[in-house]
Amino acid sequence: CGIIGFTGNLQADNVLIHALEQLEYRGYDSAGIALRTEDCVKTIKKVGKVSNLKQEIDSNSTIPSTCGIGHTRWATHGGVTDVNAHPHTVNRVTLIHNGIIENYDSIAKILENEYTPVSQTDTEIAAMLLDHLYDGDPINTIKEAVKILKGAYAFLIMFHDRKDSIYGIRNVSPLVATHTDEGSFIASDVTALIKYSKDYFVLPENHIFELKKDEILVWDMNQNLVKPEMLSVDWDV
Ligand code: GLU
Repeated sequence: CGIIGFTGNLQADNVLIHALEQLEYRGYDSAGIALRTEDCVKTIKKVGKVSNLKQEIDSNSTIPSTCGIGHTRWATHGGVTDVNAHPHTVNRVTLIHNGIIENYDSIAKILENEYTPVSQTDTEIAAMLLDHLYDGDPINTIKEAVKILKGAYAFLIMFHDRKDSIYGIRNVSPLVATHTDEGSFIASDVTALIKYSKDYFVLPENHIFELKKDEILVWDMNQNLVKPEMLSVDWDV
């Protein structure tokens, strides 16, 4: 299971596929990406190897995009199917998730008059909750959502009206990030980032972040901006 997010000035699918290949060693059963285009969010996801996903992407004509998220899934809730693979989209929200939402069942019950899930995953319920709470302010919406969500998670979230940004939060599940002249990168581990930079930082737990083309912003739960300490990999690539 692995996560990658990118926004900047490179063709996003290349960045995402390269990173997912680096993260393959973590184990997975399906892979998928979502690409932000001029007028929509395009999702491609498939059971099996990252190479299957790459073939599927290559068989489409190039999707011009410089902002996207990618995921390898290790199924915990719901079988290994294309529909259960990530990303998941619910109305105004597309997201990927590593981890487990323990109380997904009770959240699904609360939202059952508003949404009918198409997958069997715990993750789609989190996407429903975020769409339900979305008030035009991603930071506040994530803050409200994690008051309700219980479990381990690393989320990368695209709010469809925020074109070039990727938002998210983590609890227990790992995330590291880096910013270079080419853009902003976030991933489950540093192996996915070292092609672009040896400098990175660990996302602090229970902090909300926004990946923008020209910077990465991190807030604590009181919405104070935080500057995480930079680290550096000392091995050669
Ligand atoms: N619990 C989620 C699922 O089964 C995410 C699994 C993962 O970490 O890849 O879809």
